[in-house]
Amino acid sequence: MLVVMRRDAGKEQIEAVISELEAKGYKARPIPGGDRVSIAVLFNKEPVDSTWVQELPGVKEAITVTRPFKLVSRETKPEDTVVSVGGVKIGNQGMVIIAGPCAIESEDQAMVIAEQVKAAGAEIFRGGAFKPRTSPYSFQGLGEAGLKILEKVRQTTGMPVVTEVMDLVCFDMVEAYADIVQIGTRNMQNFSLLRRAGQSKRPVLLKRGMSATVEEWLMAAEYIMAEGNPNVILCERGVRTFVRHSRNTLDFSAVPVVQRESHLPIIVDPSHAAGFRDQVMPLARAAAAVSAHGVMVEVHNEPEKARSDGVQSLYPQQFEVLCKQMRAIYDVFQTTERLK
Ligand code: PEP
Ligand code: MN
Repeated sequence: MLVVMRRDAGKEQIEAVISELEAKGYKARPIPGGDRVSIAVLFNKEPVDSTWVQELPGVKEAITVTRPFKLVSRETKPEDTVVSVGGVKIGNQGMVIIAGPCAIESEDQAMVIAEQVKAAGAEIFRGGAFKPRTSPYSFQGLGEAGLKILEKVRQTTGMPVVTEVMDLVCFDMVEAYADIVQIGTRNMQNFSLLRRAGQSKRPVLLKRGMSATVEEWLMAAEYIMAEGNPNVILCERGVRTFVRHSRNTLDFSAVPVVQRESHLPIIVDPSHAAGFRDQVMPLARAAAAVSAHGVMVEVHNEPEKARSDGVQSLYPQQFEVLCKQMRAIYDVFQTTERLK
């Protein structure tokens, strides 16, 4: 159930409704909206009888949330969520471009790429310090040394940084260095990790599980929000299908579906979807055309020497061209949307 407060409801009235609900054993969570506050009722096993709630001072109406995800749903919060990080706004505020190497390999490598992607138009830097690799013999990332390099990149370039947290063991460490904590495709349903991310002060970039439905993905986001973290950014990165010509199949329809169902920002990662450099630019341009709130692209100054995902990493010169193309395409559709 969602209790929608009247526009003129005061702080005391909102608090009174919360305490009435909690006195009845429900968990109540205020959700500030554009012009009014709503209160979500969570963890109820049965539908909540709303007749008495509607009588409380300041209450406009009590509505049943029809979707299994509640805090994530547009029913609960009609306005788009905008996540602010280091001066960058993600979520229906233009298209945010995140770029960097798959993995942080050295300070020189990270710094060179960071300067190049920034000059090309990236606003956020990416790079893994803890890498989830298919083989235990592949490069696993530099760990804390990699996080320290990311910190240096932020200090030098001013760009916020996003990096993956793989498990509970390294969560505290990763959140101490990262501006955005990434949960990768392989961990989308790691519920203890999701809960921990929900207790973090950092925004969370939640990638779609490689075999997850949109509903399962939104339920994973619900785990994070239910713990109190409202700053979740969803990332479509392709799902596993029968095709062999690409690493995954990028599900573009997820973008409008998520934008209809949820207020959370959604970005697209064409690099892990494609798996091959020649597919990355067309997919990234298409992400701009479907009005994703951002893209995350792997870029490497020497892809042939990269310790992970070199074959899908763009050359910095390609990335520079791509940024211009994506912005132009994104703007075309923003203008036509506004004319509707
Ligand atoms: C990544 O972005 O570094 C990554 C490993 O992506 P995914 O979890 O989508 O495979
Ligand atoms: Mn990668």
